[in-house]
Amino acid sequence: MNITELSLTELSQKFKEGKLTSREITEAFIKNIEAQNDKLNAMVTTTFDLAREMADAADSRCENDKLLSPLDGMPFTLKDNICTKGIRTTASSRMLEDFVPPYDAEVWQKLKAAGVVLLGKTNLDEFTMGGSTETSAWGYTRNPHDLSRVAGGSSGGSAAAIAANFCAGTIGTDTGGSIRQPAAFCGITGIKVSYGRVSRYGCMSFASSLDSVGILAKTAEDCAIILQVIAGHDEKDSTTPDKEVPNYSANLPKSLNGMRIGIPKEYFKEEGMDSDVLSVMNSTKEILKKMGVELVDISLPHTKYAVPIYYIVAPCEASANLARFDGIRFGPKIDGKTLDEIYTKARSYGFGDEVKRRILIGTYALSAGYYNAFYRKAQKVRTLVKQDFENAFEEVDAILTPADPSVAFKAGDGYSNPLKMYLEDIFVAPASISGICGISTPIGKNKENLPIGAQILCPAFKETLALQIANQIEKEIKD
Ligand code: GLN
Repeated sequence: MNITELSLTELSQKFKEGKLTSREITEAFIKNIEAQNDKLNAMVTTTFDLAREMADAADSRCENDKLLSPLDGMPFTLKDNICTKGIRTTASSRMLEDFVPPYDAEVWQKLKAAGVVLLGKTNLDEFTMGGSTETSAWGYTRNPHDLSRVAGGSSGGSAAAIAANFCAGTIGTDTGGSIRQPAAFCGITGIKVSYGRVSRYGCMSFASSLDSVGILAKTAEDCAIILQVIAGHDEKDSTTPDKEVPNYSANLPKSLNGMRIGIPKEYFKEEGMDSDVLSVMNSTKEILKKMGVELVDISLPHTKYAVPIYYIVAPCEASANLARFDGIRFGPKIDGKTLDEIYTKARSYGFGDEVKRRILIGTYALSAGYYNAFYRKAQKVRTLVKQDFENAFEEVDAILTPADPSVAFKAGDGYSNPLKMYLEDIFVAPASISGICGISTPIGKNKENLPIGAQILCPAFKETLALQIANQIEKEIKD
C-alpha cells in the first residue's frame, strides 16, 4: 500500500483504527514532496518541522481517544494567499516575499482546531490573477500528468499537490474559476462554494464581490468532510450569512434517480472546444441517464457576457484591494525622495506584469467618466447572468457543463496573449459572477491521457447536492 495514494477518507479511517499513525502518514507525504517538488514546483514553502509536531500531537490525541474531527492528523496544504501566523505567506508575489502574517485566516484557524497537519503552502498565480500559475513570481507549477503542461490556476499548486500525492486535502480560492479549472487540468475534485459559505477572513482579497474559499481533494467524499469543518458564519466576515451548515456527507450515497439535470446549449458548442472534451462529456451524459437522471436541454442566454463582465468587475475591485501594497503599509520598503517615488518604486518592483495590467484596467474603468460606462454597466449585465441561472433552476435541480473547453495547455502558451487566456474562463466565470456553487469532477482522459473535468452547478447553498452528484459520477466512473 502506498500511503500517499489513499484518499483523505481512507487515511482518516486507517488512522482512527490505529492501522497508521499520523506521524507515519506525515513522513510518507514529506518524503514524496522531497522527491518530487523540485520538478513540479507546487510548493512555495514547506513546514515539515511544524507538520511533525502537529502529527505527534494528533497521535497522542488518538491514543487517548480524543480525536478532534475526521480531519485530525491528516496531511494538508494551503494556497499561499491564505494567512498563516508565523509562516511566510507570499501570494506568489515579490511584493510579499518576506511577509509573515501576524494572524491566521479563519479557514486555517478552523482546520487547526480540527487537528490537521500542515505540510506547507502551495503556489498560485500572483495574487490569484491567472489561470496557469505562470504569473507566479516563483515560477509556474508543472502538471503531474505531463510536465510540459501547466497545472492550471490560480490554485495550480494546490491541484498539482493533490494529483501528485503531496497532501490529502488542500484549500484554494476561486474568484473566476481558480479551483475548478486547475482541478480539471489535474484530474482531481475541486469545489467552489457559494459566495459567503466559507469565511474569507485572512485570505488575501482579489475581487471582493467574487472571491470564495474552497477545497481541492481526491474525491467529492473528501471535499464533503473538509467543508463540514470550514463552512459557516464568521462575524469577522460580514458576507457569511448565519445559515445552517447541513451535513455535507449525508446525501453522498443517495441515488440520482429522478433528478433533473440541465444541459445548457451555450456550453456544448463544437466551435472552440476540444473534440475529446465533448466526447467524454457525452459519455458522462449517458452514465447519468443510466442512473435515472433526466437530462433537460436548457439555455443560459447571457453566458457570452460573463467573461467581459468578469474582466471589468474583477480588475476594478482588484485595483482598490491592491492599493494597500504600496511599500508603506505592505510591501518592500524602498527609499525615495517623495511619497510618489516610494509608491512607484515599491509597486514597480513588487508587482508582476499581469497584476499591473489588471490594476491599470481597473483604475481606468473606475475613473470619473468611465465608471458608468464600464463598472456600473457590468454590474447590471451581471444581474442578467444571475437571472439566467435563477430561471434555469426553476426547471432543473442542477446543471452539467465541461469545466474547461480544453485540457491542460503547454506552459508558455498562456500570457503571451492575455486576451486568449481571459477567454479560457468562459465556463467558470458565470458561476462566480452569480455566487452559486460549482464543483469540478474528473470524468475521463483525452487521447494523450490528459484529464478532463465536468462542472456541476447548483443553486447557492446547495453544496450538498453538488457533492452528491459529483460523488455518484466518481463512483460510477471508478467502478
Ligand atoms: N483565471 C481567472 C483570472 O485570471 C480566475 C482567477 C481566480 O479565480 N482567482 O482572473
